Amino acid sequence: MTERTFLDAQKAVIEDFAMNKNKREREFYSLDVGDSTFTVLKRYQNLRPIGSGAQGIVCSAYDQNLERNVAIKKLSRPFQNQTHAKRAYRELVLMKCVNHKNIIGLLNVFTPQKSLEEFQDVYLVMELMDANLCQVIQMELDHERLSYLLYQTLCGIKHLHAAGIIHRDLKPSNIVVKSDCTLKILDFGLARTAATGLLMTPYVVTRYYRAPEVILGMGYQANVDIWSVGCILAEMVRHKILFPGRDYIDQWNKVIEQLGTPSQDFLMKLNQSVRTYVENRPRYAGYSFEKLFPDVLFPADSDHNKLKASQARDLLSKMLVIDASKRISVDEALQHPYINVWYDPAEVEALATLFCH
Ligand code: AMP
Repeated sequence: MTERTFLDAQKAVIEDFAMNKNKREREFYSLDVGDSTFTVLKRYQNLRPIGSGAQGIVCSAYDQNLERNVAIKKLSRPFQNQTHAKRAYRELVLMKCVNHKNIIGLLNVFTPQKSLEEFQDVYLVMELMDANLCQVIQMELDHERLSYLLYQTLCGIKHLHAAGIIHRDLKPSNIVVKSDCTLKILDFGLARTAATGLLMTPYVVTRYYRAPEVILGMGYQANVDIWSVGCILAEMVRHKILFPGRDYIDQWNKVIEQLGTPSQDFLMKLNQSVRTYVENRPRYAGYSFEKLFPDVLFPADSDHNKLKASQARDLLSKMLVIDASKRISVDEALQHPYINVWYDPAEVEALATLFCH
């Protein structure tokens, strides 16, 4: 090869590289969203912030390729430490694999960075919903909507359980709905090995919905998630957080003040140091569910609504049971008269194997 052709070849490679780089850069554009900058593919237009969580900011956008609105979540510095990296990885893998209409679906994933060395930001593109349950809790819902939202939450949970995922951290901010009353669960909860107390983020973690077995560091089974659903139903009825503890200790106080000190056979399941603490709390008799959730909280203006109110209260009394061995299971909850009006085997028993592609 002459020197001339060698130089030409080199130039061609560099040009090609630069062209590609330019092309790649042309595919993305940046805009400021709050304190953050979103650098997204050009197909995503009209970005507007719609929420933020422990992992980052979420925007709505219009996807020109799919011709529909989507939600884009920018994971904030997912590789800043192992906890964040593991969480991001787990969320991505599970979102990609779990396929159920009551679990949020992943439409696309991208990074604007061009090489592994520069790789820093991850953007998840999801189906767009209208609001989270925190917003819905403020509303006066009729029994039909209330029970339908619960039914869908239980279908989503059942599907997660069947795929081997026990959530343990369901809360209203992680459940999203559309105005047609369809509902999806947004995340996959606590990883089995999560260093939950050590998450290095200024973001305040909400613990109001965590079950006694999580608060007290006991073993848990699938119906740990039923407790959270009970807390959410209670909040939808009361329009107030059921157990608004300042921390785990205060939260345990709120639980026993309302539901009463648990029985001796529950205390025997606790490890020694926790048991000593629990035994040394003041004793509370608790209140009946009629007192905790009186008729005035429910729409009860007709015989039908009165019946529904008593069914909802009965369901609450079976979900909000401190001892998990005496708490209703997900399957039993789906069969409960307040819920089973919606029962559709195709939704409840949807194929639960994980399909990863
Ligand atoms: P996250 O970071 O997943 O906890 O989400 C934070 C908040 O953003 C949620 O509480 C919702 O209000 C909102 N959000 C997240 N994903 C979506 C979505 N796919 N559709 C609508 N809102 C969402």
